[in-house]
Amino acid sequence: MDFDLSEEQTLARDTARKFAREEIAPTVEADEEAHRFRPERVQKMAELGFFGSVIEERFGGTQFGHLAACIMAEEVAKVHASWGLPFNMQMNGPALIIQKYGNDEQKEKYIPQLVAGQWLGCFAITEPNTGSDVASMKTTAAETEGGFLLNGQKTWISQAHVADMGIVYAYTDRDKGAKGMSAFVVDFKTTKGISTMPIEKKFGLYCAPTSEVYFEDAFVPKSAMLGARGDGFKICMTMLDSTRLSCAARAVGVAGACIDASVAYAKERTQFGKPLASFQMIQEELARMVVEHEAARLLVYRAATNKDKHPQQRNTHETSIAKYFAAESAVHCANTAMKILGSYGYSNEYPVGRFLRDSKSFQVVEGTSNIQKIIISRHVLEEA
Ligand SMILES: Cc1cc2nc3c(=O)[nH]c(=O)nc-3n(C[C@H](O)[C@H](O)[C@H](O)COP(=O)(O)OP(=O)(O)OC[C@H]3O[C@@H](n4cnc5c(N)ncnc54)[C@H](O)[C@@H]3O)c2cc1C
Repeated sequence: MDFDLSEEQTLARDTARKFAREEIAPTVEADEEAHRFRPERVQKMAELGFFGSVIEERFGGTQFGHLAACIMAEEVAKVHASWGLPFNMQMNGPALIIQKYGNDEQKEKYIPQLVAGQWLGCFAITEPNTGSDVASMKTTAAETEGGFLLNGQKTWISQAHVADMGIVYAYTDRDKGAKGMSAFVVDFKTTKGISTMPIEKKFGLYCAPTSEVYFEDAFVPKSAMLGARGDGFKICMTMLDSTRLSCAARAVGVAGACIDASVAYAKERTQFGKPLASFQMIQEELARMVVEHEAARLLVYRAATNKDKHPQQRNTHETSIAKYFAAESAVHCANTAMKILGSYGYSNEYPVGRFLRDSKSFQVVEGTSNIQKIIISRHVLEEA
């Protein structure tokens, strides 16, 4: 497979790299300390086309493709993983799924605003008792005059308490099982009966906000339904195919940052009269990191390239392979970086503690590593 980047992909990479180095890097430490999210930065990223790669030009997109989107997410996450999340909350999640399943009115109302960063988006699947088993969700959308009443609770929803809109998954017809789930495009700020509470204390991704969301008889009009009644589960899985890929790209970015930090430290730190880099055990650790990092990137680029080449085909299997391997290798690279930096790795003066905290999220979000393994093994077992 040929990964010579096109002119557009090169432009996307260079723009994201410059932005990450010049705009994000200077504030990382202070923002981490304050757990600060910067909505104005989402707008700036939008102005540079970060949220338009897989969006049609008529809605403000660039159509540079999934590979360009992955490369940008990778570049941004390499500097500060928290800032990789808006790729999913704006584009790969809400905007792309509305582009695929929405009616003209929904497309025109939401996609340009999300791509331009004028509105912040989110998507709400997870509940206190519903994680990997999406079909077990409890949130309901009961039909009423002119629309539906949403009731239930979602949790761990990225960007929800700052969001203007969100894709909400709920049961319209529970007796039909997964086929009774529907998806809704919901105005978070103006719909009565929606409240949010930030999850302030979390292990990592300090600058990417996460929230609980409560729906109490929240009325949404019929026009809020995305796709057909009962399509929610299918829409959700389709959305995850795309958000999962972006997550894998972020993992590649963090692994790259771990390698850079380890190499720099191994060259600079002297023990037993020699730099750490001269010890074979350290060299072996570096080599493993590099191989895993390169392999993860190839898997991500392959899945992204095939998405671009065959937009109508689902490539869940390839995406799950990429997500699983990239997440696991990012955690391994972060663990190894911690090891190489010794006590300095344990200090907040160096960023590798953050790399480890942030990398752990990749094993959980958009389907855990076990769920990816289930998807992958099912595919080969069904093919055999
Ligand atoms: C930072 C962050 C941001 C998030 N953002 C969002 C968001 O924007 N929107 C949203 O909807 N959700 C979001 N989530 C939630 C995330 O998608 C879920 O946490 C994830 O799907 C896993 O669900 P769970 O945590 O309930 O784990 P569980 O499903 O309870 O799983 C716990 C453990 O059991 C394992 N397990 C579960 N079932 C099986 C099985 N059948 N076989 C083997 N092992 C199994 C899992 O792999 C895991 O190791 C976010 C989470 C985090 C941490």
